[in-house]
Amino acid sequence: MSARPQIWFLTGSQGLYGEDVLAQVAQQSKVISDALAASEAIVADVVAKPVLTDTDAIRRVMLDASSDDACAGVIAWMHTFSPAKMWISGLERLQKPLLHLHTQANRDLPWRTIDMDFMNLNQAAHGDREFGYIQSRLGVVRKTVAGHVSDPDTVAAVAVWARAAVGLAEVRGLRLVRFGDNMRGVAVTEGDKVEAERRFGVSVNTHGVNDLVAVVEAVTDSHVDTLVKEYDELYDVSPELRAGGERRESLRYGARIELALRQFLTEGRYGAFTTNFEDLGGLRQLPGLAVQRLMADGYGFGGEGDWKTSVLLRTLKVMADGLPGGTSFMEDYTYHLEPGRQLVLGAHMLEVCPSIAAARPRLEIHPLGIGGREDPVRLVFDAAPRDGFVVGMADMGDRFRLVGNAIDLVRPLEALPALPVARAVWAPRPDLRTSTTSWLTAGGPHHTVLSTALTREHLEDFAEMAGVELAYIDETTTTRGFTRELRWNNAYHRLAQGL
Ligand code: MN
Repeated sequence: MSARPQIWFLTGSQGLYGEDVLAQVAQQSKVISDALAASEAIVADVVAKPVLTDTDAIRRVMLDASSDDACAGVIAWMHTFSPAKMWISGLERLQKPLLHLHTQANRDLPWRTIDMDFMNLNQAAHGDREFGYIQSRLGVVRKTVAGHVSDPDTVAAVAVWARAAVGLAEVRGLRLVRFGDNMRGVAVTEGDKVEAERRFGVSVNTHGVNDLVAVVEAVTDSHVDTLVKEYDELYDVSPELRAGGERRESLRYGARIELALRQFLTEGRYGAFTTNFEDLGGLRQLPGLAVQRLMADGYGFGGEGDWKTSVLLRTLKVMADGLPGGTSFMEDYTYHLEPGRQLVLGAHMLEVCPSIAAARPRLEIHPLGIGGREDPVRLVFDAAPRDGFVVGMADMGDRFRLVGNAIDLVRPLEALPALPVARAVWAPRPDLRTSTTSWLTAGGPHHTVLSTALTREHLEDFAEMAGVELAYIDETTTTRGFTRELRWNNAYHRLAQGL
């Protein structure tokens, strides 16, 4: 999003309390919203709205929130008792994510001075119960956060939700371009693009790859000169690719692809893209370095025409913006099955994002046995050891399913001098057998997004507000319990869709 998104802060009350009490409510509400607005963890401007005391005002603010592109979500708090029938009309019209903040102005009870005036003013304990009831009665999707705003856990939970809301706002307007179709014969990279636009808002469209090739061929040499100099400074460039090296021309062609891709994405207002090594048209190399650098700049990407993973990567990149750690396209490649130390080696043909790199990447050129083109340039590195997750999206026919797994990235057990691609090594939780058994039972894909910047809670909040299933494997997972959860999810999501 270009401008900083807003989160609207709504406070519920009613006219019965009279002017004086409502003035106090407004003032205390401002203190709460100011505290949230002052938090650097919340990646949106928290905007306080006037206290709501009647049906018309509530319906109006919900309609305004729904229609205002700047508004990514709404926080509601019932400072006093706000009879909830007057919220029905507004809640039914709200089209933005909702967070119910269950808090109160004072942290401590004023034990010695508390009187009935104080009791009348500070009623969130039952006011929010009235509001919780009507939301549940209407089936309103929301996140409920309870606690005083001086408690860091309260603000942290709001901050996670705000990132998810910003991610949802991004995907609602996302445009994705596929260069070519999916890899021939592959099932899991397919999907219903109409349903994706309905569910997420993303627009998925295809260009023939030669539309990109035409832009590649029009790139000027002076732009290439500038970009290869940038490569020289940023990476450990292998001798054959350096200025005067025998393969410098291959690096220049890689730069040409990057410049053309950037131009194509910018002009088309695309935030995500896919490529397919089976359909390279007039491209001389499979895009490797270019894709890696575009991912590092926040673009979504999926290999082999995998637009669902590309959508997911762009969304999670936006949600993770500014957080420590990285987020990358990933593929489960091969295993280390030593008893007691079982690991996954993840990589791709070329396209792993340097945001997860442990150290300055090396820029290298090697043959690629697949695709039948010239040797592509690529960044090679190990992923930094951190905890994180992998998450993939599958189209189950009647809905999208996200499958996630908590992982612990580790250093490779030994150096990998013969492996010419960037890679990540991790231990899946709770263990490789339970993780993989559960993942396969869920029909989770081989392409994923790996993130060490976001947490399970970010994913949960996003899945909830987007209305998609999330099946998550972590240290508490058992195969039996997970299998049952999938079965219940099938029933729930089919019922929730209605007839
Ligand atoms: Mn792949």
